[in-house]
Amino acid sequence: METMNLPEKHWRHSADEVDRHWKYANQSPWAIRVGDISGRVGESQELDITLPAPSGIGDDFYGITADSDVDVTGHFDAIKDGLVFIGEATAAVHGQCSRCLKDLSGPLSVNFTVFMPLKASTAEEDERLGRGSSAQKDVNVDEDEGEDVYPLLEDGMYADLESLLRDAFADAMPQTPLCQPDCKGLCPLDGVNLNDHPEHHHDEAKDDRWSALASLKAQLEAKED
Ligand SMILES: [Zn+2]
Ligand SMILES: [Zn+2]
Repeated sequence: METMNLPEKHWRHSADEVDRHWKYANQSPWAIRVGDISGRVGESQELDITLPAPSGIGDDFYGITADSDVDVTGHFDAIKDGLVFIGEATAAVHGQCSRCLKDLSGPLSVNFTVFMPLKASTAEEDERLGRGSSAQKDVNVDEDEGEDVYPLLEDGMYADLESLLRDAFADAMPQTPLCQPDCKGLCPLDGVNLNDHPEHHHDEAKDDRWSALASLKAQLEAKED
């Protein structure tokens, strides 16, 4: 039996490989095939996949390393003009507190609800092939219509999650990464972590200039005597 099953298993595996290669070759690693439900109002498709992190999320100080794993779960729901994608993505953030340099690396999750229209894809494709009409341009989704709109590709065959993931994580990047809102930072004189040593301070009386003045004063007072 097992030997008889082998060819079938092998064939199925190959089909998946071929499909994936086709998908990667023609689109991108972020292209999700949704052709079975797009245009079929009421149909849904679940998604549970690990994708490479897009580049350009955060920076060296605080961000997500390009090509690191991003776990994406969610579902596509077909509506009249396209798909609604509701999902969550989780990636590993590398970074440090901007005040005390504490390591802030860890998982970061973002949620999103986006519209993926069919029409824009058609218009864009027409434009690319030089057969666009003014009527189609009118229904084209403008960039200023909102960053929550990500047109489907190839006549609704694919949803490409690259810009969606980049936008969602970029929005979640803090302007000033902090280990805690009231992080006390490091002592500017010797780098002691003031969160760990809240009582740490430098007594001004011990400052060299003060002790020099104090000894001068003592000398003057001694002369007066
Ligand atoms: Zn800190
Ligand atoms: Zn100090």
